[in-house]
Amino acid sequence: MFDLAGKIAIVTGGSRGIGRATSLALAEAGAHVLVNYCSNEEAAKQTLALIEAAGGRGEILGFDVADPESVDRAIKEAVERHGGIDILVNNAGISIDQLLLRVSPKDLEMTWATNLNGPIYCAKACIRPMMKKRWGRIINLSSVVGESGNAGQAVYSSSKAALLGLTRSLAREYASRGITVNAVAPGFIETDMTADLPEAGRQGIVDQTPLGRIGRPEEVAAAVLFLASEEASYITGQVVRVNGGMHV
Ligand code: NAP
Repeated sequence: MFDLAGKIAIVTGGSRGIGRATSLALAEAGAHVLVNYCSNEEAAKQTLALIEAAGGRGEILGFDVADPESVDRAIKEAVERHGGIDILVNNAGISIDQLLLRVSPKDLEMTWATNLNGPIYCAKACIRPMMKKRWGRIINLSSVVGESGNAGQAVYSSSKAALLGLTRSLAREYASRGITVNAVAPGFIETDMTADLPEAGRQGIVDQTPLGRIGRPEEVAAAVLFLASEEASYITGQVVRVNGGMHV
């Protein structure tokens, strides 16, 4: 339905979960997808194999989004290889869930370094090549809890709320250059990140979700694909909520 032929896309944390589904969706629409991973190269290779099996194109690209030097190096080399970057999906994220009284400075630092500094470093590295083409798409993966808050997720939810501020500011800063910047805020989605939640907690989430079930990574990827497309050209600074009605 959407045509991304000739576009170069980077999906941070494209190796697993929502990032994998997003990499597959963008590749299926014709983009050449750079599948980023941090530590699990095998998972990134599996994503690439799935892309190629479906007739798409891509490559794997290892770097830690929290390390500005490795972000700059990897993205600069990718820009040189491909002549630019058109689409950046800031998907890589971590959550270390605990009550405020147990939060350590190290957990706080790691979460913010990955969930907020990472998207800033990646956007900074991609923005010049996008400005040159006068076309670009940046899509940030926030979360329902970035808007609603959640007990036990003060650090994670505040990093995801900050990402919305980043989205809105960059949208205003680069609109005149043909670059749109939006966020997708998923609800509870079935991935490794949510795999450890006990059954009672899972049922509690289903009970709070009008659509009465947990979401699938492909349902989030569909929103990212739309925002990456030409069809979304008049949408910037927005938050698309993919949460089964959990937060309206
Ligand atoms: P996931 O299954 O845990 O996968 C996380 C991905 O991020 C992996 O590919 C991982 O790669 C990568 N990653 C982590 N730290 C990284 C770093 N420093 N540098 C580069 N890559 C890194 O997560 P998910 O559930 O798909 O979530 C994807 C995004 O959606 C996250 O931002 C998350 O906060 C957000 N989200 C998820 C849910 C949900 O219910 N699942 C809900 C709302 C929002 P490695 O394996 O190589 O480390």
